[in-house]
Amino acid sequence: MNLRRSLSTLGLTALVAASTLTGGAAVGVAAAPAPVCVEPAADAHAKAKPGGSAKTDPNELTADQVTANEKALQAALKARGKAPAQAATAAAAAVTIPVVVHVISEDGTRANGNIPDSMITSQINVLNQAYSGGTGGAATAFAFQLQSINRVTNAAWYPIVYNSNTEKAMKAALRVGGAGTLNIYTGLLSQDLLGWATFPQSNLTTYDGAVILAESLPGGNASPYNLGDTATHEIGHWLNLYHTFQGGCNGQGDQVADTPAEKSAAFGCPTNLDTCKSKPGLDPIHNFMDYTDDACMYEFTAGQATRMLDAWNAYRA
Ligand SMILES: [Zn+2]
Repeated sequence: MNLRRSLSTLGLTALVAASTLTGGAAVGVAAAPAPVCVEPAADAHAKAKPGGSAKTDPNELTADQVTANEKALQAALKARGKAPAQAATAAAAAVTIPVVVHVISEDGTRANGNIPDSMITSQINVLNQAYSGGTGGAATAFAFQLQSINRVTNAAWYPIVYNSNTEKAMKAALRVGGAGTLNIYTGLLSQDLLGWATFPQSNLTTYDGAVILAESLPGGNASPYNLGDTATHEIGHWLNLYHTFQGGCNGQGDQVADTPAEKSAAFGCPTNLDTCKSKPGLDPIHNFMDYTDDACMYEFTAGQATRMLDAWNAYRA
C-alpha cells in the first residue's frame, strides 16, 4: 500500500560483502541483512494495496529486524565508548556531512537524467533547512556540504534498478569517502521508485548511500514529490530513522518517543488523522519520515534528532 515504503532486502549484505569501502574500512564477514528503504514514485499509486499494513506488506521491516537493529546500535555505541545522546546535545553538536552527488544519465541530456547544478545546490539547501529546524521542526546536529558532483553517462545504469547487480556494480565503481561521506545517486529509478537508502551498520559496504529520483529534486517534474524531501526522508534512513508508522500502533513503533504512533503510512496531506486512538497524539503526517506530499512534511522531532546523532556516533563518526 505504500507510496514510500521500507523494504528489507534479505541477503543483500552477503551479496556485497566482498566489496571494500573506498577510503573506508575494509568489509569483513557479512552479518545481519541490511535493511533498505524504498520509495515508490507518484505514479506507483496503482500498485497500492488498500488496507495494507506492516503485517501484510512484505516490504516493511519486521519486528525482529527492528529488534536486531536496536541491539546493534546499542552495541556499536558501547564499542565506541559513546553514551546515548541527549536531546540538547543532539541540537548543539555540529556535524557537517560531505555530500557527493553522482548524476547518472542515459545519454548526457537533461531529459535523460543530466540535471543541472542548480537542482543539486537547491537540494542541498533543502536538506540544510530541514535538518536545522528551519522548516519548523527540531534542529538536528547535521548540516550538509556539497563536496562534488560526478556526472556519469552510462546507459547500462539508466534506470538504476533497485537491488540489481548493476546497481551494486555502479556503486562499487563510483562510491567515494568513508562511512561519514554521503553518496547520493540520482537518475531514473526502476519500479517507479522515488528513492531508497541504506540504514547504517557497523559492516558498511560500497552499497551504502541514497538513490534518489532525479526529478524529485527541487525543480524536477515529480510533483507532488519535487520539493526535495525524498532526499530529506532517505537521508533520515541513512541516519537510522525508521518510518513514523514502523510497528503501527504497537510497542515502541519507530523507537522514537516523541513521534505519535501511527497505524500506517499517510498520503497527500490529511487533516486530523488519528489511526492509533488508544495512543496519544494525532498521526505525525508532517514528519519527514511519513509518506505525505513534500509540501506537507516539514519536521523532524527532538527524539529523531537524538536518534540520528546516536547513529552517527555509532556508525559514521
Ligand atoms: Zn522510507
